[in-house]
Amino acid sequence: MSASDSETLANYKKEMIDQSFRDSVATISKEGNRNYIHPQKPKGKLYNLRSYFSYFYLILFFTLPFIKIGGEPVFLINVLERKFILFGKIFWPQDFFIFAIGLLTFLVFIILFTVAFGRIWCGWACPQTIFMEMVFRKIEFFIEGDVAQQKRLNARPWDGEKILKKGAKTIVFFMLSFLIANFFLGYIIGIDEVGKLVQEGIFVHIGTFSALVLFTLVFFFVYLWFREQACIIVCPYGRLQGVLLDKNSILVAYDYVRGEPRGKATEQGHGDCVNCHACVRVCPTGIDIRNGTQLECVNCTACIDACDEIMDHVGKPKGLIRYASENNIALKEKTTYTWRLKLYTIVLTALICFLAILLITRADVSARIIKTPGQTYQQLDNNKISNLYNIKLANKTRRIIHLDLKLEDAIGEIKLINKIDVPKESYFQTSFFIIFTKDQIHNRKTKVNVGIYENGKRIQNTTATFLGPTI
Ligand code: SF4
Ligand code: SF4
Repeated sequence: MSASDSETLANYKKEMIDQSFRDSVATISKEGNRNYIHPQKPKGKLYNLRSYFSYFYLILFFTLPFIKIGGEPVFLINVLERKFILFGKIFWPQDFFIFAIGLLTFLVFIILFTVAFGRIWCGWACPQTIFMEMVFRKIEFFIEGDVAQQKRLNARPWDGEKILKKGAKTIVFFMLSFLIANFFLGYIIGIDEVGKLVQEGIFVHIGTFSALVLFTLVFFFVYLWFREQACIIVCPYGRLQGVLLDKNSILVAYDYVRGEPRGKATEQGHGDCVNCHACVRVCPTGIDIRNGTQLECVNCTACIDACDEIMDHVGKPKGLIRYASENNIALKEKTTYTWRLKLYTIVLTALICFLAILLITRADVSARIIKTPGQTYQQLDNNKISNLYNIKLANKTRRIIHLDLKLEDAIGEIKLINKIDVPKESYFQTSFFIIFTKDQIHNRKTKVNVGIYENGKRIQNTTATFLGPTI
């Protein structure tokens, strides 16, 4: 059969599948109420692999805030103090351009990754999925049992057992949310600041305490009740899938060419899907992957494991649901490196190179010189005139920097009002005079180059405008 014949057949078979599922969301009932999903406990090779990965991920999440380089955390996103540390390197608002290019690079990387591998991030590395499926859901299974037991528990009156189990789950969920909130806050203000709250009390750190309470409540709400809605309704990345994915993107997909038409294992003349719904029962977002790629699918792989187990039972090859692209399934094509991927790769490579250059050439000190407001020029003795300037400096290093200023390409002098000793990781501001003799100034405005020196070595060059008398 030619490729086009295969495609025609595939499309034909696809159209045979009922499309009415697209009219509603599995988590919302016909009356518009929340359809609370009770997925079955997954088991299988991929679930085990995801569990191992999540252990590594959780260890990293809970230890990273304690790891420091030169006394500073490895990661800090302190939006309040506008201090950002990535891999131990401090970035300041003055580094906004680098930060913007870094974000752009990250965005292109995400796009490239998604075009190639779909939502693999969501299933394997997204903190929401890891905490929901690998922490909170496992605790829920442990306390309330598997899905049938959970449903029975929900249906029974509030007797001793129900109060005990629901109470235990609520307390454990709240305590875990509180723990996660502490570490989450640690990534924003630093774990030492969070520690001070414990040592010095909430009244001394009322702001930190308020943030902690807010984060705890948000996490508690998300993991106890909101759950998969965060992925379906809130997450912007999920919403982007429709734009980013194409027929070559690798996703968790049902092989409808092999599986359709569905039928019982004991019957002849149908595809490999035995219509057992095992894949639907394990889905945490409540969808049927056999309906095709859907916005709700977080690529958690639970349906792959469930279907593989069924295929084992009925003696058919595994992989009826597997990681595959539309073209893998419909045309039996191997995954190709498409022009779209090539284009994104070129853009990403260019951005990475540009970012590397910016990082390598990033100055330790940034300086801005402005004329002191309200001042023009001052007449001095000896036929000299002076201008007063303010200089604002940011020291991006972890050491005190002693600086000196010199005029470049001009015969004049600089008179400092204070010594320029810029404390580590801080801003410093002072004033200074630039002085010329009158015969050296021929214009109302003269551009002068000011060199910033550390230990006799010029580390930066900046300009200032010198105002003289009108000639
Ligand atoms: S369809 Fe499969 S991969 Fe997608 S969310 Fe449901 S169980 Fe996970
Ligand atoms: S688990 Fe496999 S066989 Fe069962 S309904 Fe899903 S796709 Fe069909």
